[in-house]
Amino acid sequence: MKKLKMSRLFPIILTLIFLVGMGCASEDQSKSSAFIKKYKALQASFWDRYITKNDQKSKVGRAPDELIDFATMYDQKFQFPGHPKPSEATELELNDIDQALQQVPKSVFDLMGNRFYGIYLAQDLGLTALGQLVADEQGKPIGGFILIDETRIHTDANSWRTEHENLFFDTKDAKLEGVIASPKGNTHVAALRWILLHEMGHLIAGLHQEIFSTFKQGQKTSANLGFQTLSWEVKNRAYISRFEDKMLSREKLQAVKIGTKAWPEQEIVPVYEGLQQTNFPTLYAATNPGEDFSESLAAYVNVFVFHEPIFVSYRKGDSHKVFESCFSNYKCPDKIEYFQRLLKPNP
Ligand SMILES: [Zn+2]
Repeated sequence: MKKLKMSRLFPIILTLIFLVGMGCASEDQSKSSAFIKKYKALQASFWDRYITKNDQKSKVGRAPDELIDFATMYDQKFQFPGHPKPSEATELELNDIDQALQQVPKSVFDLMGNRFYGIYLAQDLGLTALGQLVADEQGKPIGGFILIDETRIHTDANSWRTEHENLFFDTKDAKLEGVIASPKGNTHVAALRWILLHEMGHLIAGLHQEIFSTFKQGQKTSANLGFQTLSWEVKNRAYISRFEDKMLSREKLQAVKIGTKAWPEQEIVPVYEGLQQTNFPTLYAATNPGEDFSESLAAYVNVFVFHEPIFVSYRKGDSHKVFESCFSNYKCPDKIEYFQRLLKPNP
């Protein structure tokens, strides 16, 4: 792995992230800042009692009442169909999440700083999981936590991914499978590991402004290569993928992502053929820069740390096609090398 200098840390960019249905959406900076200041559970002082030391142990638990209250407010505010209830997770379920957390590389964990408040379970959240920033008294984000709906995470890695991938399409005769694990590695823990890495990606992006340096400013700073410059441009204050002409219209992807529209199944092959001409590791990564970062982080760790595959398999009649992720076949070296730099071991 190439050793390159890690860029210095910049002040914080605020993002508020949640995973709804198939995935996440994010709020803009000003809304997030006000939001964080308004709720106790989003402030560092609330969490002091939960912090003992910054290691990867003992960071998994059932959501305290304050988090259930927060989630209830969240669903109301953003009109999610949930009625959050306390966790009834078994020790076995908690243990699986703990195992997944232990598998997160230390270099990823360390990027969350010294205030990762942990992973908390609840029921009927109206969404699968959310990664939420926590702020200090000045409203500056200094940490975060992950809240997971325990009723939505019972599958193995490939079943989960298949379900996720199929949400993009109105599939009838075709069979579309998402694969992120070898037969041996296809476990429940592997599914959880991807979900955790994805949510941690949102927290990390919120805590490290250099990752989206030009994302905030709307212009390139050239000396500091923001992650989003690898795939995105700013046009009229909106983020446009550099690959809009490859069947990956952002508008289409956004519409699919928020569940207002799914592509008909005849679009499956053209969409994935288009994806293969980009540097997005997954289709979901192409929805916006934040999801791009989270999916890329999860994909990088999956391929280069765990040596697991990432591909989509399409079957219809006699036709069978496999669309490999550019992280698996090394066709997006720019993005892969970005994560090599970001996750290089501390000296
Ligand atoms: Zn997300």
